[in-house]
Amino acid sequence: MKQQLTIALSKGRILKETLPLLAEADIVPAEDIHSSRKLIFDTNHDNIKLVVIRATDVPTYVEYGGADMGIAGKDVLLEHGAAGLYEPLDLEISKCKLMVAGPKDAKPVEGRMKVASKFVNVTRDYFAKQGCQVDIIKLYGAMELAPLMGLADRIVDIVDTGNTLRANGLEPMEEIADISSRLVVGQPSMKMKYRQIQPILDKLAAAVARREAEAEA
Ligand code: AMP
Repeated sequence: MKQQLTIALSKGRILKETLPLLAEADIVPAEDIHSSRKLIFDTNHDNIKLVVIRATDVPTYVEYGGADMGIAGKDVLLEHGAAGLYEPLDLEISKCKLMVAGPKDAKPVEGRMKVASKFVNVTRDYFAKQGCQVDIIKLYGAMELAPLMGLADRIVDIVDTGNTLRANGLEPMEEIADISSRLVVGQPSMKMKYRQIQPILDKLAAAVARREAEAEA
């Protein structure tokens, strides 16, 4: 008998790009996820279920075995840390950059810099590697507001087109990391359910490769 598998998906922006890729790997939810308030979804496979949760909760669910696999942005994975997780596949979707940004044409900060972010671990590591001590201010959203209100000198945030920064008089300054969505697998699940997981990994990898080949053609 096939063992049950649960895949945790990040809701929001990533989900829109995740579902078509899953479909290309022949995993299709049994109903329309976007118009449902449900959190757990059956699929076209008896043994595969999808759960749709906040992006930041995906690595936690997978680490503790609440889900066997998950799809989450590298930003979220960097912030969470790699404990208990394998990251076997870059899905090459939802690409953006994690960047330091600040007011347009800002002067260098004198004294200890204040940096606002929801990515406090990534921010601490990044500035520590530069040998730079900073005060980190944890925010949960609208980071762009912090420099405008005098709360922080810089922010660390995700930048895609840069429109959000520009609209608020900010500009990107330093790139911390290239971001895309990754497939993660819990270490115990990889061991116990390898025979179920491996074909899914193979199909997703093939779908990603097909897309790349099409983009190059
Ligand atoms: P933009 O104005 O295009 O630079 O988009 C920036 C905002 O969109 C950021 O504040 C992010 O919160 C969000 N965003 C853009 N791309 C992504 C992504 N791939 N994953 C998560 N959030 C994103």
